[in-house]
Amino acid sequence: MNQQFGRVALIGIGLIGSSLAHVIRREKIASHIAGYAKSAETRKAAVQLGLVDSIHDTAAVAVKDADLVIMCVPVGACGEIAKGISAALKPDAILTDVGSVKAAVVRDVLPHVPQGVHFIPGHPIAGTEQSGPASGFADLFVKRWCILTPLPTSDLAAVTRLEKFWHACGSEVELMTPEHHDLVLAITSHLPHLIAYNTVATAADLEEVTDSEVIKYSAGGFRDFTRIAASDPTMWRDVFLNNREAVLEMLGRFSEDLSALQRAIRWGDGETLFNLFTRAREVRRNIIAAGQETAAPDFGRDPKHR
Ligand code: NAP
Repeated sequence: MNQQFGRVALIGIGLIGSSLAHVIRREKIASHIAGYAKSAETRKAAVQLGLVDSIHDTAAVAVKDADLVIMCVPVGACGEIAKGISAALKPDAILTDVGSVKAAVVRDVLPHVPQGVHFIPGHPIAGTEQSGPASGFADLFVKRWCILTPLPTSDLAAVTRLEKFWHACGSEVELMTPEHHDLVLAITSHLPHLIAYNTVATAADLEEVTDSEVIKYSAGGFRDFTRIAASDPTMWRDVFLNNREAVLEMLGRFSEDLSALQRAIRWGDGETLFNLFTRAREVRRNIIAAGQETAAPDFGRDPKHR
């Protein structure tokens, strides 16, 4: 792969930032990886893990002379970061992010983007429940979608350069508006996380089921909810605070459908239950056919850990 950029600045070196560092290095996408992290602990780990060529304790110094700046911080932190780096951004640089919500990032970042800098928001639909600089790996983005939400004013050549970057990371790229992104992700990602957090919290609160029983009998469904609910609390707090309307819209629909299921159970309406479960099973088959999930039993887990 040809080198696409000179200096790339990673602002935030958690799961996504460190995964980008790994793949940028492996694919030789940039000649220099500059990193910034909020805590001294993460900065030290980034150096020890060999993720960066230079580490900086302010984001403004990290972005100096960078051709590509990627904000890999919780959604709620993007505005402050953009304000802090604004004056240091190189003319013609591409400024992007990886946040799970897009309209709020545009709202918070755009006012700080100087003339001549290309701001193109992005979101790789790739992740795990792990966080921090040691959790990243180079293949995280392989065969995953990365959604870019260019603005009507975005420079087409810059959008193409960013698309090429994500292709080099192994991703497929799709373009859409920030608002459409937020609606789609509300149902495919944000609502499932909310349900997982709530399911685990309800189980943990049950007085008649002791904690040890919840853990002991956690095979199957509940354990998969606990995996999702182990995701980073700061990141997910920011997702719900910043995609409020789309999540509330989807939650409303979900509650109505749940009431219909509740009624079917109450009235012994097996046909309704069977039909819905059959439709749901078809959705999973389609996801597997699209290469976005493994068909192996139990998500391909090692039988020892089932
Ligand atoms: P992470 O592992 O928790 O890392 C977050 C990074 O942001 C850390 O380097 C942290 O610094 C830094 N940070 C946190 N608060 C900050 C603040 N107020 N100012 C400056 N830096 C701050 O998180 P992640 O999973 O990489 O997520 C990063 C972004 O990617 C989020 O916007 C998230 O929505 C998005 N995303 C996540 C996933 C996923 O599955 N995890 C998938 C796609 C997109 P310290 O380590 O020094 O605290």
